[in-house]
Amino acid sequence: MSRLSLWVASSGGEPARLRIQEVGIRGSEIPGAVRVSEAGVESASGNETDWDAVLVLPLEATQGPVAAALVPEALDGIATRHGLPLEAGLHLLRHADRIDLAGWTVWIAGDGPPVEEPYDEAVHGAGQHCGRTRARLNPGELVVRCPGTATAQCGMLYRADAWRLHLPCHSCRHDPKRPAWRPPAPQPRSRIHELVRLLVGARS
Ligand SMILES: [Zn+2]
Repeated sequence: MSRLSLWVASSGGEPARLRIQEVGIRGSEIPGAVRVSEAGVESASGNETDWDAVLVLPLEATQGPVAAALVPEALDGIATRHGLPLEAGLHLLRHADRIDLAGWTVWIAGDGPPVEEPYDEAVHGAGQHCGRTRARLNPGELVVRCPGTATAQCGMLYRADAWRLHLPCHSCRHDPKRPAWRPPAPQPRSRIHELVRLLVGARS
């Protein structure tokens, strides 16, 4: 299971969390791909040509962007990221990025809870040590990769029992006790109106 989840809301409604189960490319398929169109937000195999949907493709990255958005020619300048039009093509997405299309809002959250997985030298690198106990990791024992923070990705390995102590990461200071990221609450319209009134009042 990946650390990536999407928060999806329609027309300013309460966002709901959509967890991405798998990340990576398998043959011509991208298992965690999600399509965002006028019809809504749904999973996609990622290998079809989509002319009416933005494809959100999770990336298997330990640093930097956590997903990519593929914008088709037909939606050039129509889909937006943080309110700014996206051109047709591929765009890299980071944690807390926001995509809007046809009344649908999708936030990218790259800070999901980390997963316990067996230590595998082929996947995690040979001769790794636990970031807390400094003990050498044995193939097959459960480890956790630190998910990093909103501003810094990490990837330091911990023995699962050491991670379960819920202490901040030695490398990036990720704090497992802090609540998971949520999309920002929408600004009440009245406040924006008040701000406009203040600005107009200041000029007159
Ligand atoms: Zn860390």
